[in-house]
Amino acid sequence: MPKETLHREVVIIGSGPAGLTAAIYAARADMSPLVIEGPQPGGQLTITTEVENYPGFAEGIQGPDLMDQFRKQAERFGTEFIGAWIETVDLSQRPFTLHTEDHEIRAETLIVASGASAKWLGVPGEAPAPQGLGGLGVSACATCDGFFFKGKKIVVVGGGDTAMEEATFLTRYASRVSVVHRRDHLRASKIMQDKAFKNDKIDFIWNAEVQEIIGSPETGVTGVRLFDNVKKEESIFPCEGVFIAIGHQPNTQMFRGRLEMDEVGYIKTSGRSMATNIPGVFACGDAQDNFYRQAITAAGTGCMAAIDAERYLDNLPVPTPTGEEITREGERVSADHETLTLPDGETVPNQPEAEGAQVGGD
Ligand SMILES: Cc1cc2nc3c(=O)[nH]c(=O)nc-3n(C[C@H](O)[C@H](O)[C@H](O)COP(=O)(O)OP(=O)(O)OC[C@H]3O[C@@H](n4cnc5c(N)ncnc54)[C@H](O)[C@@H]3O)c2cc1C
Repeated sequence: MPKETLHREVVIIGSGPAGLTAAIYAARADMSPLVIEGPQPGGQLTITTEVENYPGFAEGIQGPDLMDQFRKQAERFGTEFIGAWIETVDLSQRPFTLHTEDHEIRAETLIVASGASAKWLGVPGEAPAPQGLGGLGVSACATCDGFFFKGKKIVVVGGGDTAMEEATFLTRYASRVSVVHRRDHLRASKIMQDKAFKNDKIDFIWNAEVQEIIGSPETGVTGVRLFDNVKKEESIFPCEGVFIAIGHQPNTQMFRGRLEMDEVGYIKTSGRSMATNIPGVFACGDAQDNFYRQAITAAGTGCMAAIDAERYLDNLPVPTPTGEEITREGERVSADHETLTLPDGETVPNQPEAEGAQVGGD
């Protein structure tokens, strides 16, 4: 069957907090955005339970309920949704072309809000409830869930900077933090190691691999089954929470070689806007943020990306990662704002003619 062809001014890849906020702004600006929902409609918050740090919900809100509100708000202003995922993209010319299994989508501007996925161990007990204890004592985000572990004994799994950051942060709440690492030394930077070693609430369990997270929906997490890979012995280590801190993978594989990224795959944006290296393509949320990784920051950058797309469609200059500003028509304003390069390559001063020049001045 031939694919259905669609052509839209604004196409948004992803329906997490970043994508849906971009949709709310774009829809209210009359840009009729199309959201491709992807493999996880609603994004990462749909696999968590209580969200207590999203402003506006004084009593907290369940992650799936929060994302339902985002979606309804985007829908209210005319956002269109497709329940599919993007398989391939062609960004070599505008309109950009995106392919799902059933659609060929042409986009005048593209907002990439495809998020990131926490890396998991893949052991029994780790999956989100009800299959496992995810949300019932297993987490991959200390900033999000640390508060729920006041006075508790917890395990952090990993040996890199993420694990040291999470372990150090969690000592604000936990009575004891045990870092479980499969080697006898850490991969983390020296400064992060030193901070963790000096913290008397943190201890280390070396050469140990978590084989299972133990507990039940009634008790939550009660311990982890460890395997000592030097002594070749198994043991049960009691704890009330497990934080998996072995890194994140941004969902940006389809843009490799096209959009500029760091070595992990986070898309590089301008710094002053959400523009990528390709004019007309903007990125927001966890797909471009390896540091804050929060729903509110994802939503904030989603708002920025939509405003950038709106400016771009209005032929106004948008800051790019090089420091230049570029318009949809291909005019480039130099980083120092001194010169304007026109689409045919001619460079002219970026100065208005002196006021009154044509009438002889003052
Ligand atoms: C267990 C857990 C608990 C958390 N708790 C909190 C919390 O309490 N507070 C907080 O602020 N943050 C929390 N976070 C972090 C927060 O969820 C993320 O920072 C936020 O969801 C990032 O939003 P995003 O829109 O950038 O990406 P995501 O939420 O990751 O959404 C990405 C979207 O892109 C789509 N997508 C991916 N690939 C494709 C493709 N090829 N084609 C089309 N669509 C695609 C997905 O379907 C999804 O809709 C938590 C995260 C986790 C994992």
